[in-house]
Amino acid sequence: MIEESLGGDKSGDSVQHWDAVVYDLRHEYGEDTYKSWISKASFDRIEGACLYLTVPTRFIRDWLLNHFERKIIRMWRKYNDKLIKLHISVQNDPKAVVSKAKPKVKNSDSTNKLMMSLDKRFSFENFVVGPPNEFAYAAARAVSESENPQSGSNPLFLYGGVGLGKTHLMHSIAWYINKNMPTRKVVYITAEKFMYQFIQSLRNNNVMLFKEQYRSADVLMVDDVQFICGKDSTQEEFFHTLNSLIDNNRQVIISADRSPSDLEKMEDRIKSRLGWGLVADIHNTTYELRLGILETKISVQKVVIPSDVVEFLARKITSNVRELEGALNKVIAHTKLTGRTITLDRTQDILSDLLRSNERVVTIADIQKKVAEQYGIKVSDMYSVRRARAVSRPRQIAMYLSKLLTTKSLADIGRSFGGKDHTTVMHATKKIEELARQDREIAEDIKLLKKVLQC
Ligand code: ADP
Ligand code: MG
Repeated sequence: MIEESLGGDKSGDSVQHWDAVVYDLRHEYGEDTYKSWISKASFDRIEGACLYLTVPTRFIRDWLLNHFERKIIRMWRKYNDKLIKLHISVQNDPKAVVSKAKPKVKNSDSTNKLMMSLDKRFSFENFVVGPPNEFAYAAARAVSESENPQSGSNPLFLYGGVGLGKTHLMHSIAWYINKNMPTRKVVYITAEKFMYQFIQSLRNNNVMLFKEQYRSADVLMVDDVQFICGKDSTQEEFFHTLNSLIDNNRQVIISADRSPSDLEKMEDRIKSRLGWGLVADIHNTTYELRLGILETKISVQKVVIPSDVVEFLARKITSNVRELEGALNKVIAHTKLTGRTITLDRTQDILSDLLRSNERVVTIADIQKKVAEQYGIKVSDMYSVRRARAVSRPRQIAMYLSKLLTTKSLADIGRSFGGKDHTTVMHATKKIEELARQDREIAEDIKLLKKVLQC
């Protein structure tokens, strides 16, 4: 079963109230009573002034009604003072009208709620696997398929840049478990919502309920955990939740946009615990993977996109899969709207903004490295004060290219070349422009370097 503890709508609240009542009963009457009786009851629904529960046998129903009817009603009235009646039905009991008409499973309200918040398209079947993500994919599958967490993969820590498929993999895990092991309780939450709910629970004085919700999960997934870096009390709570679940042999899956050790403003002990299990990173896409993703998405859409357009997109939209999908969707929308096959020209037109932002960002360090390689000098010569022509000319070329290909100021560029003055950079830029006009060889070198740096 899957649940997302969001609070908010009425049915979700009711499930949470039931969890709170169970929590209190458990504490008041102890583990034995809880295990034998209370835990057997599942929340069904609230209708008017009546709370409906379901239990597996008549025996349990009678016992609960005899011992706990008034108690449960009293406890529930803390949350909803309209409640005056308790109805317990027996699952699959032909006499019980309610359960016959509508057999319910525990937490079904919140189950439905999570299923709605999970994206249907984010399944393992729709995930295109290639070298950059195959390890993360295999780890996600392994965790989904095993009934119990393996010590080496708990927690599973998935990380990678934005739009590379972390959330897609997490939702896939939830779908998979929901389908194949429906009795396992899966909780998926973003770190942002985790924090929000935690703060709410502090405000409303029901931190215990908050804790219980997460600690009762068989599988807990927290997405984008970098969000709680620097949020001290949320971090603390998260750490305890993490420990409690792992110590109780429940599976925890975390995602972040960077590795555990790179989570700045995260306590060291948390970073270390996050790195204990399996750490799987998703790398930037390759051309082949992008092509594969585009082809898969086109085939479901049943449209025709010429192969030169598809290849163009795969070559140009390199930032992440989300942008790649966005670009493809634009092209598809255009095709459907006009009813004509799209051309490469039109594609460039429609996507001009996106294409511009996907142009590779060149850094001064890249330029220094490539220019040094080209002329067979050391990168450190770029920062030196050596004036020998064999060193100074390449250095001037690197300065010129830095001015041309980056947005840095002359002063910034000077600083990156071992603290030189902005006038030195200006002089170098002018000199190279002049030389490029006169000297074919230099002109060719520059053309080549530009190409290497920008592809
Ligand atoms: P993240 O959570 O890492 O920022 P998402 O999981 O939200 O990224 O992915 C962004 C979009 O790209 C989603 O629509 C997702 O379906 C798609 N996507 C990412 N990787 C793949 C892949 N390997 N195959 C198919 N679709 C992918
Ligand atoms: Mg995400």
